[in-house]
Amino acid sequence: MRAPSHCLFSSVPCTLIFYRNEFSSHDHDNSPPHTPLPTLVFRAMEVHRQHHDPLTIQHCTLSNIKSGGCPEDCHYCPQSAHFHTGVQPEPLMTIDSVMQQAAAARDAGSTRFCMGAAWREVRDGGDFNTVLEMVRQVRELGMEACVTLGMITPEQAARLAEAGLTSYNHNLDTSPEFYEEIITTRTYEDRLSTIANVRGAGIEVCCGGILGMGESRADRVALLCELANLNPYPESVPINALVPVEGTPLEDRPVIDGIEMVRAVAVARILMPTARVRLSAGRTDMSDETQALCFLAGANSIFTGDKLLTTPNPGTNHDETLLTKLGMKRMQ
Ligand code: SF4
Repeated sequence: MRAPSHCLFSSVPCTLIFYRNEFSSHDHDNSPPHTPLPTLVFRAMEVHRQHHDPLTIQHCTLSNIKSGGCPEDCHYCPQSAHFHTGVQPEPLMTIDSVMQQAAAARDAGSTRFCMGAAWREVRDGGDFNTVLEMVRQVRELGMEACVTLGMITPEQAARLAEAGLTSYNHNLDTSPEFYEEIITTRTYEDRLSTIANVRGAGIEVCCGGILGMGESRADRVALLCELANLNPYPESVPINALVPVEGTPLEDRPVIDGIEMVRAVAVARILMPTARVRLSAGRTDMSDETQALCFLAGANSIFTGDKLLTTPNPGTNHDETLLTKLGMKRMQ
């Protein structure tokens, strides 16, 4: 594991060193933790309150603008052409239909609209030009615009920046050590290179990972250290829980323990104080209480709607009810 290159631990030395040691020395989720959860969450809450309104959650909406048929073999993904999951390849959506979704998302309270295309990489030409126009029109709605399109070159990143893109999503997914167990069609370095291209164009980086794929606690903390070591660290950090989908190689993975999610969110918050930490996929398998703990630990964004790409999501009504119950509010 690469140690943080700058003084990440200075403000919270004991908690994180214990936490890192805990992850390094115990590989099982049911091993006794070195850092009591209340201690860890308390530290995360302190950091959270220094940089954010702890009662406010940003709502984002993610649209699957080009579904299925992806040549990559990400073992968690039902959209990979390598697996038989029932997801049919579809062409890029039209600008009009995407804009209808974006307007509906804005009217329902989302301030960020994310567009995902199941591509290995961006190819110059008609489809990319269409995506650029989608970005322009989402920005005209007054929303933040984020896209996830696979690998991109510096030139393509510059064109996205010109179109007004707020943020580009490209997840590291897991630790460098565990990565080859999950994806074989591109390398960790490929991921880092696209992230550097995004940064080079002046676009914000959205980058996180997925927990519950069979990785150890050491892998989880290594992922968080990799993210925190990006210079600067991502403005947006999605923390996903694996949703095991039938037909994928990870279909039999047990759903990750909620307390492990809370721990990961807390460490992400402590390591990346100003980032927006997004509690992303897998919320349908989490209780309201687990989600509430994640918000206490520093998560300050969720994705709304009934679906997240191809997997289920709690739905706007449930989220509104939960936030009301917690006395929290949507970011305006
Ligand atoms: S690159 Fe994206 S769409 Fe393609 S298989 Fe991986 S996660 Fe799925």
